[in-house]
Amino acid sequence: MLKQYKRIKQEYADAILLFRLGDFYEMFLEDAEKAAEVLEIVLTSREAGKGKRIPMCGIPYHAATSYIARLLAKGFKVAICEQVEDPKKAKGLVKREVVRVITPGTLIDEQYLEEKVNNYLVALVQREAEYGLAVADLSTGDFMVTQFAADEALLLDELCHWQPKEILVAEDQLAIWSVLKQRINVLFTPRPPHDFQWARAQERLLSHFQVVSLEGYGCQELKAAVGAAGAVLAYFYETQKSQLEHILSLRTYHLGDFMHLDQYTRRNLELVTTLRDHKTQGSLLWVLDRTVTAAGGRLLKKWLEQPLRRRAEIEDRLAKVDGFFHQHGIRQTTRGLLRRTCDLQRLLAKLACQTVNPRDLLALRTTLALLPEIRQALQHEELGPVAALAAEINPLPDLTALLTTALREDPPVSVTEGNIFREGYNQELDTLIRATREGKQWIAGLEQAERERTGIKSLKVGYNQVFGYYLEVTKANLALVPADYIRKQTLANAERYVTPELKKYEELILGAEEKRAALEYQLFLDLRGQVLARLPELKRLAEILAQLDVYAALAETAVQNHYVRPEIHEDKKILIREGRHPVVERVLPPGQFVPNDTLLDDDQHRLQIITGPNMAGKSTYMRQVALIVLMAQIGSFVPASYARIGLVDRIFTRVGAADNLAGGQSTFMVEMSELANILHHATADSLLILDEIGRGTSTFDGLSIAWGVLEYLWNPRQMGARTLFATHYHELTTLAARLDGVENLNVAVAKEGDGVIFLHKILPGASDRSYGIEVARLAGIPEVVLARAAEILAELEAKGLKERSQTVALPTKPMQLTLFTVDEAHIYDELRQLDLNNISPLEALKLLFQWQQRL
Ligand code: ADP
Repeated sequence: MLKQYKRIKQEYADAILLFRLGDFYEMFLEDAEKAAEVLEIVLTSREAGKGKRIPMCGIPYHAATSYIARLLAKGFKVAICEQVEDPKKAKGLVKREVVRVITPGTLIDEQYLEEKVNNYLVALVQREAEYGLAVADLSTGDFMVTQFAADEALLLDELCHWQPKEILVAEDQLAIWSVLKQRINVLFTPRPPHDFQWARAQERLLSHFQVVSLEGYGCQELKAAVGAAGAVLAYFYETQKSQLEHILSLRTYHLGDFMHLDQYTRRNLELVTTLRDHKTQGSLLWVLDRTVTAAGGRLLKKWLEQPLRRRAEIEDRLAKVDGFFHQHGIRQTTRGLLRRTCDLQRLLAKLACQTVNPRDLLALRTTLALLPEIRQALQHEELGPVAALAAEINPLPDLTALLTTALREDPPVSVTEGNIFREGYNQELDTLIRATREGKQWIAGLEQAERERTGIKSLKVGYNQVFGYYLEVTKANLALVPADYIRKQTLANAERYVTPELKKYEELILGAEEKRAALEYQLFLDLRGQVLARLPELKRLAEILAQLDVYAALAETAVQNHYVRPEIHEDKKILIREGRHPVVERVLPPGQFVPNDTLLDDDQHRLQIITGPNMAGKSTYMRQVALIVLMAQIGSFVPASYARIGLVDRIFTRVGAADNLAGGQSTFMVEMSELANILHHATADSLLILDEIGRGTSTFDGLSIAWGVLEYLWNPRQMGARTLFATHYHELTTLAARLDGVENLNVAVAKEGDGVIFLHKILPGASDRSYGIEVARLAGIPEVVLARAAEILAELEAKGLKERSQTVALPTKPMQLTLFTVDEAHIYDELRQLDLNNISPLEALKLLFQWQQRL
């Protein structure tokens, strides 16, 4: 047996091999040592011939799931090796095979998965100057692929978006990904290079989808992408050992199809988790997600992470939300029905991977049975496009009927122990069921009959695993035992007997039960096959149900939270009336949130500089604008009384004085590299939210950088992106007077005695002062410190003004934008005073040289 073990283990060297031995999965040698530690189970040893012993540990097979989950969580892969023939019938050693390899990126069992979160696997390949990236979720059958220029920042953004649990890379490209591997904490699985080769990968895809060209999937020409997709399929085939019929198509996407959100922006905007504790609660998803099904929850999350850019697609979603928004009754009915459906997507994955159980099929039947009602509920013209979507529901009545006649109402999870099918479904099975029942009835009557026949009042009929059925007589009554009783077992104060007739019935019952279990297993495989044959239709149903759930949920949220349908335009004007921050308004007591208007465009309202004390509400306001735009672009209604959204291609947010000191870089360095990323990637169609840029360095450095950045963003020849810029550098507010399209906003505060009241209202114009000391008082800084601070401030302000007026000659002409113009001014003076009649050409050249040096 150990030889068999070692032969199998050789093929699965990178996994922990769970070797089935009767009711246990055993692990040996190194695997046993590793697993015993992780699982906190006893490490024993086993005789391995010639007096040698090897380490071993085991887990009971019926409790394997939780142990496997723990191994996976620790980053191990697990290979499940089963006995593939009946030990009773085996000659010699039982045949064993690995039936499935479970890895973090190939989970399908709901026990390992989070309901509303996809479990993605990614494959990466570099081919010339391009990256190919394939993403798949085996548990739902989602399969997507893309290709883009080999740019590390873009790749990180994509990975941050998909949050894969495992990444496949070619063994010969490990060096390319070594930096990436250090930066993200994901399991990297090296795979054979030929899996990623274009020709081979293409071949694999063609044969899986049974097509002759990849044209229809949009990736015919994308060789890197095809390589990655092929590698994913190869891995799935190898680990699942099944045909993966539920992976029905491959979707090619381009980064430009969706709003681009870099990793910082995703985190800053707290789309699906909060910055501080990475919880869903407090995120945008938390506010929006009122889905009632797991698949709906996953779809909404997907939408949120991939906002759209094309107006038609957005309008299409909005129209469907709108349908549900106005039809309260229908929305509630639909949600009530959907709530009772099962997770069809994941069920279909289990079906294709052959792990579906009788209870799953019962859940499928229950779901199918609800479809006519759902379809009916949605056949209303007022629902517009939702009605059209619902009309696509094909309730598959024949399949529903089949499952209804086949399955009992209480089938077990196990497929090998019978009790799955109803009577009347299969004649042979009925005969066996009847035999068992009759046998059991006969035995049930036996006790009474024998008591009467023998006169032993305390005679009992019983059953145990080893001896089967027996008649039990206490020692006191032994004299009354009839001659046809055959002694079986002696107990302390009783004897157990059988009779030839009892033996006959016992054989009948046990034989029938065994046959029944075997027959029901066959019937189950057959039924599973019939359901599998309908997979494409079922898959479409799963999609429709998930979409209906999301549209109804977004409508529900819109109604509950008083959102409006945004108008979508292809220009650059963003106009929001009485906009609110979707999350902050939910955590404040009702009615406390102060709404604000917003107007941004590519003309007079391109760049807004927002000043005001800390805690006044600057960040909240800016994020609210970003979130409203983002919500509109996923097809959601928005928290405002009116919103007109000129579409954006990317949203960037940057918050100064970074909270995450990643990789030992200084705060300033982190801030600057993120800023550089924005300046390189933003376009005139982007929306930028910059909060206190330049704070991580000395005041003048910071101010100069902020100033430079602002000019660059403002300048239509350079960038000209719509920008909200919050700052404490009051000097920057002077820009509004000089640059067309820059305006100042401030957050209103009311002074009250020594303190301040935040009104959270955004007003035109620059804030007059910063109220730092008043805010410090709110935070509980002692009065003596505050008094001293006030003194210092007064002094600094007086001095600062004087000094600045000496050193910083603010340019008078509108287009002179440099901050430190001192030296330039001197050069002008020297030039003016120069007597051109008394200077040699050589001297002139020298002067020109000097001036140039000083600029
Ligand atoms: P700043 O960026 O100016 O320092 P924040 O935007 O972080 O200020 O706001 C501080 C707090 O003020 C928020 O946590 C929120 O509780 C409250 N707040 C902000 N904006 C509003 C608003 N419009 N209405 C009500 N409360 C607000």
